[in-house]
Amino acid sequence: MASVPKANELIAGTDHKPPKTGWMDTPVDFKPGTWCYAGKSKNLQVVGLPNPREWSPADEDWKLPKNWQETIHDGLKDRLGKYRSLQLFMDICVRCGACSDKCHFFIGSGDPKNMPVLRAELLRSIYRKDFTLAGKVLGKMAGARELTEDVLKEWFYYFFQCTECRRCSVFCPYGIDTAEITMVARELLNLIGCNIDWVVGPVANCYMNGNHLGIQPHAFKDMIEFFVEEIEEVTGIKIEPTFNRKGAEVLFITPSGDVFADPGTYTLMGYLMLFHEIGLDYTWSTYASEGGNFGLFTSHEMMKRLNSKMYAEAKRLGVKWILGGECGHMWRVINQYMDTMNGPADFLEEPVSPITGTKFDNAKSTKMVHIVEFTADLIKNGKLKLDKSRNDHLKVTYHDSCNPARAMGFFEEPRYVLNNVCNHFYDMPPNTIKEQTFCCGSGSGLNTDEYMEMRMRGGLPRANAVKHVHEQHGVNMLSCICAIDRAVLVPLMNYWVPGVDVTGVHELVANALVMEGEKERTTDLRNEPLEGMEDSDNEDL
Ligand code: SF4
Ligand code: SF4
Repeated sequence: MASVPKANELIAGTDHKPPKTGWMDTPVDFKPGTWCYAGKSKNLQVVGLPNPREWSPADEDWKLPKNWQETIHDGLKDRLGKYRSLQLFMDICVRCGACSDKCHFFIGSGDPKNMPVLRAELLRSIYRKDFTLAGKVLGKMAGARELTEDVLKEWFYYFFQCTECRRCSVFCPYGIDTAEITMVARELLNLIGCNIDWVVGPVANCYMNGNHLGIQPHAFKDMIEFFVEEIEEVTGIKIEPTFNRKGAEVLFITPSGDVFADPGTYTLMGYLMLFHEIGLDYTWSTYASEGGNFGLFTSHEMMKRLNSKMYAEAKRLGVKWILGGECGHMWRVINQYMDTMNGPADFLEEPVSPITGTKFDNAKSTKMVHIVEFTADLIKNGKLKLDKSRNDHLKVTYHDSCNPARAMGFFEEPRYVLNNVCNHFYDMPPNTIKEQTFCCGSGSGLNTDEYMEMRMRGGLPRANAVKHVHEQHGVNMLSCICAIDRAVLVPLMNYWVPGVDVTGVHELVANALVMEGEKERTTDLRNEPLEGMEDSDNEDL
């Protein structure tokens, strides 16, 4: 794994000067730390993806199938016919440049091919050559070029330097969504076996074991039971979750990242405590044990396949509706694609909170409710006893994860919950939050270690906004509602803004939640002493 330059060296070594040669004549440079390892043959085979083989993007020979250009041409033709948006996005860009400085990868790297307009041109230039008269006749003069191996390598490099975050689309006067262009480009690369392992590995695991991390059913259950013991230590309360229970009212599904690694695990403890306290009739599934869907980063077909397991499991268990945890792209799949892929889920009931009676009209067809919305409704209806002061040792800000923000318009609910469980909440500057939020720099399957330099570059604008509230208000905790964020913002903060930790919203909810029959709490879920309880913690030690 390539070492990452120190933060000050990274800044000093980055300028935004264009190269001396034109973009079509500037070859791609696979620098260590800026590209991801290739998808392993065994993972491609598990899910039947084409051209399984061992290869590396750094190799001269990518072992492509003989007819690879024809496969890409036919694949693009098929998608232009299927997706009207793609045809429009290929034709209507006027190159106004309004999107060009909005991408976190361009800001952090200074590489012009990370400007969304130019990223899209990488595909558009091939579209023009193959599908437009001007491109066929005038070639380069009309912005067209042949699909060569060098172009393909450029595609791989730059379409895996786009987190599909959609920030650029907010600023495009024509509504061009470069994330959708990236999705199609990645899908085309997939047709000839050019994917990254951090995407196809989780896809294969999910297909085989129900979750990205490949956690088997018995281990999944053991891990949750471990958290039950941790909760008992902090609160004195024994929680008894159920697994694969037929006839439960609600199926709860969350990203497996929260079962596996800190600080997501504390968010998971938060869910367990909340559900216990309100007496929710729910079950976990050890088969649909993943809310995330890396199919979104592979192909529309793969996204559909992986999404279907959640609904198949809801049907098998006979639940009324599904409650979903704090995840990012899971909600993009549910909110934007589920209905036309596998829905509407008419065999389930329209979700109604059994505690408040609130009907979630927005989940009428997907039958899946976001946990933050569910909790905000509990608070609004006075169903939770909360002691905000238990989070007084924290000064909190909130990172709008790209997908719940831009794919759901989910801005106020998390802030409402946070303001009800914390006394010290500070938003980052307005042009870095809500619909204009900056990406963590590691989404869409790019959260891998060999890619660390690019992650730190891509995360720079987000980190810069956190630094602002850290310096202005002493913020020491960055909250978010996405499992990938919970994993990747930790190294990002350590790199750019040391002294800021990362949490899920439901960890903070659980800290504040006054549970019936609990013992006096002296620590938070991380075993950190609560404010004023430092001495009692020392006595325990
Ligand atoms: S803002 Fe839209 S129209 Fe303007 S260059 Fe970007 S994609 Fe093209
Ligand atoms: S979708 Fe996000 S990562 Fe991709 S080009 Fe647009 S701003 Fe950059």
